[in-house]
Amino acid sequence: MTVWDELVGQDQVIEHLAAAARDADALVTAEAARSEAAASAPHGEPPRPRSAATSMTHAWLFTGPPGSGRATAARAFAAALQCVSPDRALGSAPGCGFCDGCHTALIGSHADVEVVRSELLSIGVKDTRDLVRRAQLAPAGGRWQVIVFEDADRLTEGAGNVLLKAVEEPAPRTVWLLCAPSIEDVLPTIRSRCRLLTLRTPPVAAVADMLARRDGIAPELAAAMAQATQGHIGRARRLATDERARARRAAVLRMPLRIDEVGGCLRSAQELVDAAAEDAKQLAEEVDTKETEELRAALGAASGSGGRLPRGTAGAVKDLQDRQKKRATRTQRDTLDLALTDLVSFYRDVLAVQLGSTVPLANADVRDAVERVARETSAERTLRRIEAVLACRTALDRNVAPLLAVEAMAMALRAG
Ligand SMILES: [Zn+2]
Repeated sequence: MTVWDELVGQDQVIEHLAAAARDADALVTAEAARSEAAASAPHGEPPRPRSAATSMTHAWLFTGPPGSGRATAARAFAAALQCVSPDRALGSAPGCGFCDGCHTALIGSHADVEVVRSELLSIGVKDTRDLVRRAQLAPAGGRWQVIVFEDADRLTEGAGNVLLKAVEEPAPRTVWLLCAPSIEDVLPTIRSRCRLLTLRTPPVAAVADMLARRDGIAPELAAAMAQATQGHIGRARRLATDERARARRAAVLRMPLRIDEVGGCLRSAQELVDAAAEDAKQLAEEVDTKETEELRAALGAASGSGGRLPRGTAGAVKDLQDRQKKRATRTQRDTLDLALTDLVSFYRDVLAVQLGSTVPLANADVRDAVERVARETSAERTLRRIEAVLACRTALDRNVAPLLAVEAMAMALRAG
């Protein structure tokens, strides 16, 4: 086992990162040796060695389509940078996967690895300033201070400018790992200072294999879900392990069969939006209560959930509530987005059948429905329907009320 195991179908990226981790390790070792020599030398510091070419740098941008494993790659690299395996002295590459450094970095408890995973639709100036301040600190463990920004595309422009300063003038042992779907999602000034790594969509078979091998999912189910999500690891895993998610997908894929009459259209739209809201509510129940209790305890509230808060702390509670509300909005939006992705994938299959393509269907498990819709319509109509789904996505991005956007889509599918 190594830190790279979770990365599926990304051999080139792994090669790059492993080389950088090796050079990073050499830098740390050389510097430690230098300061040791300085401490024992009677005439002050020995001359700095000429710096050799290195594949290590302090700012990286991981891009790739959703599900390709951007964040997984960044976290694996963070772990490799913290590897303290004694075998490294014998020439093995850093990133063993089980030493204390690797392990704590991977599970998220390493003191020098901060993973920023925003549940919010955007990341603002204040949060970014806090991070930048933290990035100035020397690493507690003496190796690297690593900050993983999983959603660098969600930075507001102001926040981006705050980050830019930090990336321009980094502390000597600080490493920024930014993740975004594409380079266009990050300010040009920032991306020009980052080394770019592009992940690809992993092959379906590789995803199925990993789900079966690492998550113990029955091979047949693993294969079907990897195929249905076309190599999106996170979604495939969720579908394979969460029965409710599977039920929701099944409901979404029934929609194309129910749009013949207006009533069916509107009901489908309502159900879709309700399911997304339900998802958000469930997450809120799991997380919000605990968060709120923790904050109240930290603020020193009198015991019991109705206990009085000390004077002047109401603002902090209000902040948390705002944050939770925004998170609920994002969860609902994300769930809807997944449903729309499933719908596009369905119509793509319909189109494939209509055009007589021999490519295997993504939604092979609902082949009957795909073939029925394909028979009853034309390729031209299918294209218009795909456009209708994509238009709904755009509308949601622009903050159109979900039910309004989805209803408009359902009616467009019917007319299409
Ligand atoms: Zn290690």
